[in-house]
Amino acid sequence: MKFSHHDPLEWIEAELATLARRGLRRQLRTHAGPQQVRLQMGGRELLNFGSNDYLGLAADPRLIAAAARAADEEGWGAGASPLVTGHSAAHRRLEERLADFEGTPAALVFSSGYAANISTICALVGRGDAVYADQKNHASMIDGCRLSRAEIHVYPHRDPDGLQTLLRQSAGFRRRLIVTESVFSMDGDLAPLGELAELAEHYDCMLLVDEAHATGVFGSLGRGLAEQLGVESRVPIRIGTLSKALGCAGGFVCGSQSLIAWLVNRARGYVFSTAPPPAASAAACAALDIVCDEPWRRVKLLEQAAMLRGRLREQGWNVASNASQVIPLVVGEAGRAMRLADRLCTAGLLVPAIRPPSVPEGESLLRISLSYAHTPEMIGQLVVALGAVREALEYE
Ligand SMILES: *Cc1c(COP(=O)(O)O)cnc(C)c1O
Repeated sequence: MKFSHHDPLEWIEAELATLARRGLRRQLRTHAGPQQVRLQMGGRELLNFGSNDYLGLAADPRLIAAAARAADEEGWGAGASPLVTGHSAAHRRLEERLADFEGTPAALVFSSGYAANISTICALVGRGDAVYADQKNHASMIDGCRLSRAEIHVYPHRDPDGLQTLLRQSAGFRRRLIVTESVFSMDGDLAPLGELAELAEHYDCMLLVDEAHATGVFGSLGRGLAEQLGVESRVPIRIGTLSKALGCAGGFVCGSQSLIAWLVNRARGYVFSTAPPPAASAAACAALDIVCDEPWRRVKLLEQAAMLRGRLREQGWNVASNASQVIPLVVGEAGRAMRLADRLCTAGLLVPAIRPPSVPEGESLLRISLSYAHTPEMIGQLVVALGAVREALEYE
């Protein structure tokens, strides 16, 4: 008998070609050296407006020294999942430090924010339960909701009335959970946490808030938007990431002792995954110290963001005046976003084009993320280049 040698993975090349045709194929671009506002990429130096290293900590010598010291003392690999033999003194110190920083009884560290979201949502709801999710939630929350097998109700972006309608219409579930970001990752706008907390209380729902882009940036103590809005005690499940403003890696959940004990038992991304390197926890502790000791970093960052938003509005971009350090310039179709990003790249600026599936079809955008480390001159250079892009758009 003769077998034909058909390649069962042949379809992949065809699918990749389709992505390329639609302007949606993504390519890795590798940079040399550390993650900084001047980034070495493709043999050139680009001004980096694409990183989530909002406080300029990713290459801070204090983080590097803390990691090196811990690696010396505790080695590199964690060796096992936390419940087996992987939970080291450095992990414990970070979890205590995080609980202290966030003002909650307990905290738990995951290897990524993605894992924290998926695992926590799945540990809180399942079949017979319901989740209520903002339409623009991050993929990690969407995936968590889907994987949980709870019934999913999507409410319009930042719309408490829309949420209330859904909450009224659906009842009879065992448990209900509202999930939202605080600062939305692609649009940089803010969730109405006070109204959401009120609905959660009124309709007896759990409330989970993902502060990935707000940790270290918002609030007078840098805990996030819930702190800034004075609603921390009304958000029982707070998720954050160490990988953005803190310049490290990993995700965390903070809340009550019983919430954390439940996650230690039931969060699959915690139970079935090797603990992160202990040295990474030491670096995160050093980053938290900086967030506490150097509040001017977040103050300057948000001032610069407000100023840039104003200048972009003067150029005719549709940019909200009062929001976060993440500034989206919506340009429409994916190919156009790519062309504009290429043009900025030629001018020495790295501003990522964000395309579906990160944003809805037809809403591709240039995503500017500011850092404390950007100087006024760098921001000036960005404004000039975006002015030229704006004019080019008008003639397209
Ligand atoms: C980046 C991000 C995450 C994932 O965090 P990682 O630590 O990068 O895995 C989770 N939620 C939101 C809203 C994010 O933007």
